[in-house]
Amino acid sequence: MSTAPQTALHTPSPAAAPGGPPRFEQLAVIGCGLMGGSFALALKAAGLVQRVVGYARSPQTRARARALGVIDAESPSVQLAASSADLVLLSVPVAATGETLRAIRPVVDPAALVMDVGSTKGDVVAAARAAFADRLGQFVPAHPIAGKERAGVEHASADLYRGCQVILTPLAETDPAQTARARVLWQALGARVRTMSPEGHDAAYAAVSHLPHLLAFAAVRALTQQAEAAEFLGLAGPGFRDFTRIAASDPDVWRDILLANAAQVRAQAQHFRAALDAFEATLDRGDAEALRDLIADASRTRTQWAAGAYTAALPSDAPCTAPPSSTSPR
Ligand code: NAP
Repeated sequence: MSTAPQTALHTPSPAAAPGGPPRFEQLAVIGCGLMGGSFALALKAAGLVQRVVGYARSPQTRARARALGVIDAESPSVQLAASSADLVLLSVPVAATGETLRAIRPVVDPAALVMDVGSTKGDVVAAARAAFADRLGQFVPAHPIAGKERAGVEHASADLYRGCQVILTPLAETDPAQTARARVLWQALGARVRTMSPEGHDAAYAAVSHLPHLLAFAAVRALTQQAEAAEFLGLAGPGFRDFTRIAASDPDVWRDILLANAAQVRAQAQHFRAALDAFEATLDRGDAEALRDLIADASRTRTQWAAGAYTAALPSDAPCTAPPSSTSPR
C-alpha cells in the first residue's frame, strides 16, 4: 500500500555535527533505480537521513522500492516527493532531467540541496539553466563513477559508492555552501570527490566510459549479425564475458547518455578507428614486431591503470580540469 509523503517541511534540517557530514530530515529520490536506490540505502546506512520518499515513473517500481526497504514512502507525484524534502536526488535517465527540474522548481524548498547523478554533464547543466533558472544556487550536478550493468532498484546496494570517485560540476551560479555540503555528503558515503567543468567531464567520460559502452554494444551487434552467431556465442568464454559485460546495460539510460554526449563520443570513435586501423595494418603486413609493440603498450597502460597509477596522480578534492574538446582528433 502506498504511503503518501508529508506535503510540507515542518522541521528545519537537523544541524550538522561540527566538522561532520550534513544530516537530512527527508530525502526525495526521483527515479528509484540502481543509482537512486543505492544512494538512499547508503544515506540510511550512514545514519544521515531520517526518512526517504521515492518517486518513479511506474507504481510498480515505487512499490518494489518500498518493499525492499529502499524508500520509506512512495510519492504519487514528483512534486509531492520534492516539496517535503531537504535533499533531492534526481536519478533518472539524463534526458528526463529538464522535465524533472521544471516540475519540482515551484515546490522545492529553497534551502534544499538538489543533485543529480547523470552520466553526462553538459546537457544536464543546459537543462538546469533552462528549467531551474532561479534555483541554480541549490543545484549541484554530480556524477558518481560507480554502477553496474544491471539496472533497477533490486540491484541497489548501500556500498555502491564506497571507494568510488564522484565528479561535481557546479555552475557559476551554484552556491558554494551547497557544493561544500554535497562534497562532504559524498565523502561521508566513502567517495573521493573531484570538481570539474561540465565540458571537461564530458570529454573525459566519452573516452573512458561512453565509447567503451558503445564498443561493447557494437561488438555484440557485430556478432549477432552473423549466421553463426548462436554457435559462436555458445563457444564464448571469459574474454567475451569481460569485454561485453557492459553491453548488458540499460537501453534507456545508455540511449540518453550517447545522444547527450554525441559529439565527444564521435570524436573518441575517430581515435578508436585510427587505433583499429593501426592494428589491422600490422596484420595486413604480417608485422609481428609492430603488432607485439602495440599490444605491449596497451597491456602496460591497462596494468598501470589497474594498479592506481593514474588515479594517484590526481589529488582528490583538488579542482581538476580535463582538457575540453581539444582531445578531438583532426
Ligand atoms: P535505472 O536503474 O533504470 O533507474 C532509473 C529510474 O528512473 C527508474 O526508477 C525509472 O522508473 C525512473 N525513470 C525513468 N524515466 C523517468 C522519468 N521520465 N521520470 C521519472 N522517473 C523516471 O537507471 P540507473 O542506472 O539508476 O540510472 C539513473 C541515472 O544514473 C542515469 O542518469 C545514469 O546516467 C546515471 N548513472 C548510471 C550509472 C550506472 O552504472 N547505471 C552510473 C553512473 C551514473 P521506472 O522503473 O518506473 O521506469
